[in-house]
Amino acid sequence: MKKVFFTILAAMIVMSLAFAGCKGKTGPKPEEEQTQAKPASGTGKASAGEANHIRLEDDYYDFVNGQMLNNTKIPGDASGWSQFYKLDREAYEVLNEVLNEVLRESVNNRKNEKEGSLEQKIADLYLTAMDMEGRRAAGFGGLAVYMDGISRASTIEEYLEQAGKIYNDLGVSSIILPQWSEDMSNSTRYALYFDGADLGPGKETLEDSDQEELMNHYRNYISQIMEDTGMKKEEADRAADGILNLQKDLAGSALPLSKQGDPDVIYNPYTGEELKKLFPDGTMETFLKAADLNEQDQYIVVQVDQMKKIGGYLNQESLPLLKQYTLFCLVNDFAPSLTPEIRDTYLEWNNLRKGIKERKTDEKLASELTQNTLGFEFGKLYVEKCFSKSDKKDIESMIRLILASYKKQIENLTWMSDETKASAIRKLEHMNLKVGYPDKWPNDYKDAKVLSAEEGGNLIDNSLSLLKAVNEVNKKKYKEPVDKGEWGMTPQTVNAYYNPTANEIVFPAAILQPPFYDPKADFASNLGGIGMVMAHEVSHAFDSSGSLYDENGNYHVWWTKEDREKFDELAKQVEDYYSGMDGFQGRKVNGAQTLNENIADLGSMACITAIADEKGSDLNLLFRQYATIWASKYTPEAMLDRLNTDSHSPAKVRVNGVLSATDAFYKAYPEIKEGDAMYVAPDKRVKIW
Ligand SMILES: [Zn+2]
Repeated sequence: MKKVFFTILAAMIVMSLAFAGCKGKTGPKPEEEQTQAKPASGTGKASAGEANHIRLEDDYYDFVNGQMLNNTKIPGDASGWSQFYKLDREAYEVLNEVLNEVLRESVNNRKNEKEGSLEQKIADLYLTAMDMEGRRAAGFGGLAVYMDGISRASTIEEYLEQAGKIYNDLGVSSIILPQWSEDMSNSTRYALYFDGADLGPGKETLEDSDQEELMNHYRNYISQIMEDTGMKKEEADRAADGILNLQKDLAGSALPLSKQGDPDVIYNPYTGEELKKLFPDGTMETFLKAADLNEQDQYIVVQVDQMKKIGGYLNQESLPLLKQYTLFCLVNDFAPSLTPEIRDTYLEWNNLRKGIKERKTDEKLASELTQNTLGFEFGKLYVEKCFSKSDKKDIESMIRLILASYKKQIENLTWMSDETKASAIRKLEHMNLKVGYPDKWPNDYKDAKVLSAEEGGNLIDNSLSLLKAVNEVNKKKYKEPVDKGEWGMTPQTVNAYYNPTANEIVFPAAILQPPFYDPKADFASNLGGIGMVMAHEVSHAFDSSGSLYDENGNYHVWWTKEDREKFDELAKQVEDYYSGMDGFQGRKVNGAQTLNENIADLGSMACITAIADEKGSDLNLLFRQYATIWASKYTPEAMLDRLNTDSHSPAKVRVNGVLSATDAFYKAYPEIKEGDAMYVAPDKRVKIW
């Protein structure tokens, strides 16, 4: 039910869920844009910090962003504001307008609209999402059959049979979590992984002593959901205690976030016979058979200790608890498509967790649900409206420049042998590049039926129909060789990623716009913006996890033993450097959890400053733009949540921590002296690449 595996394989630049924006968008500008300070002169030295009485020597991030952030309000229905968020919302507005056009056409031409056309699906999905009475009348709709199956199970075998059937029909699961993904050892084919169980807010939050009050709210949320499944209040309270304790117990044997991407830890191939031994006799067979997964020649166990722990629960005594847990996971997963009351319960909990003050409007929720569900369908429309082919060429040549510079960076390393350097450069030279949008658009929902209310349709059944359609497409896909043309992000996503099993860097259309990239801006600013993002993704090929994959995207150690030991030593220095930094209100950054992202930031900064040096570009402009793209503010609740769930350091640390470790920064700002907060002594400046 949690769908995290992609993030295990692909380290992204920033966690972001929604949608992005279009260049040249008209309409009123949000206040934060109007108050954003511009450089006072060509030197790139801003007036912003001076007006705000912040010295760049003390806090470069606040020097650049402080005044603008002071004047920026976090929107009531959001957990924060950032440049990513701003572009997200712009893309949402573009696609919301597309949706409204479809709705207007649909009202006028209802009779002529082709049954099963994309327009019909968009219109009826949105309209059933807006039909609150229809949602109430539908109750659990088609989900009820799966919930009843779980409720009726009187033995562990029957329970696992139902859990397997749910996976087979919908591709979701709770206690045993099968997930298909590229085989790390042979990335041309798919492999079946078994990941950890659904832990709700996650191991780090469940185990955080500062979050005990929040966990009480979580318990109340579970209880409310259980009441919605028909339990009496007292029974629901008891169930909630049991479910929370189960998740906490499983969290004890779960991998921390810092280990979840490490192939040395998570790639554990088992034969069917070996896998069955992790569980009590006969239980794994029952699940695999019902899930139609029993014919595989290998199974990869991601979290071995947790699988053994789960095995300990597969007995008659724990059956009532397991049934309640799976019911909760099912309703929690589908809550956004259920009755308005269940949806609101779900949103209240999620908003509380992130300090969001207002619930989004029904219209916004329905539009987002439609845009997110039909992500690539909307992505195609987004690209037609918002992406220029000439930008694509410009972006590609910039990436080639970065790859060439990175090659020199590797050649000049003093701690690495020529043998390992040759392998690293081979990996760099084989790196695949994707810019803007996919060459081939997925068509996963071709066979899905989305029915209007008049035809008896409702939101939960439409959502299940779409999910079943994509599940059927996926089942066929996983039997075929991996299609390397596929994209893991929609073009309207304001983000970028490196996929280690394809050795590829991917830049969706929506990040290729200001403040990241502006065809009219100077080279130094674009280097500090999109150049930094590009070199960051390239660096993921050489972070602690990414560097264990070869040029073909296979998990294969290409390092000499001595060089790997030196790398590990340097990585430990990076971990310690960040572990000492303030994350939020006295809580320190988790240097292990953020290690790979920090390695990517540091490697990226070394690369882009080397290019600037070679070309004589204005370093002040470069650093200023780098600080600008990370401008953000979050509610205190969201800041704490991110410290537990984000593999990136907080934005201010990404700026100040990286720049303080960069020699070129001191060249650009010679006024920074020992004793200043931004100053780090030359021998303490961490560097790997
Ligand atoms: Zn990253």
